[in-house]
Amino acid sequence: MEIVLATRNKKKIEEIRRIIVGLPITILSLDNFPDCPETVEDRSTFEGNAVKKAVEVCRCAGKPALADDSGLEVDALGGAPGVYSARYAGGSGGGNDVRNYEKLLAELKDVPDDKRGAQFVCCMALAFPDGTVKTFLGYAKGCIGHEPKGKTGFGYDPVFLPKSCKRTFAEMTGEEKDKLSHRGKALEKLSEFLHSYLHL
Ligand code: IMP
Repeated sequence: MEIVLATRNKKKIEEIRRIIVGLPITILSLDNFPDCPETVEDRSTFEGNAVKKAVEVCRCAGKPALADDSGLEVDALGGAPGVYSARYAGGSGGGNDVRNYEKLLAELKDVPDDKRGAQFVCCMALAFPDGTVKTFLGYAKGCIGHEPKGKTGFGYDPVFLPKSCKRTFAEMTGEEKDKLSHRGKALEKLSEFLHSYLHL
C-alpha cells in the first residue's frame, strides 16, 4: 500500500517514517506530487486542519494521504499557542522555532512551577480516495521549563519536559521521544488501524 505524507517538514517525515517502519507501506512525499497545492491551515482545531490537508492531498494525488496537525497547549495561556504554534512569534516555517519558544518563555516569566503545565497534541488524519477519513489523536502532557535545554528534535522541544521527566524532549534521542510524544501516540493508533486494515 502506498501512502502520501502531506507534509514537507523533514523532521516530521523522519518521525513518521521511524514509527511506521516495519509495515508493508511505501511512503511517498509531496515531492512526488509537485503540483499538489499547499493547504491553507485555517481551521480552529488540530483535527480540522489535519483532515483538510489529508483530503486535499488525497484528491490531488489520487492515493491515500496522511496528514498531521500538531501544536502546544499551555495551561497558563488558556491553551495558546494551540493551532498557532508554528507561527506564535509571527512568520511561518521551522526557522521560527527559537523565536517561538523564546516568546513562550517570556510570557511565562512570572509563572510558578506548579502552573507551568502544558500538553502537545497531535491529530493524524488518513484520507482514502473513496472519501473515507480516519483520525487518530495523541497527547503528551508535561510542563514548560525556565530555559531551553538540549539540541535534538524541533519546535518547542528544548522547553518541554514530559510528565515526571527531568529532561526536555530536546535532550532525548528520537526513539526516547517517540515513546512519550503526542505524534508517537497518534501513530501507534494509526499503526493499530493499519494492522487490521491490511489484515496483518
Ligand atoms: P504544524 O506543522 O502546523 O503541525 O505545526 C506544528 C507546530 O507545533 C510546529 O511548528 C512546532 O512549533 C510545534 N510542534 C508540534 N509538534 C512538536 C514536537 O514534537 N516538538 C516540538 N514542537 C512541536
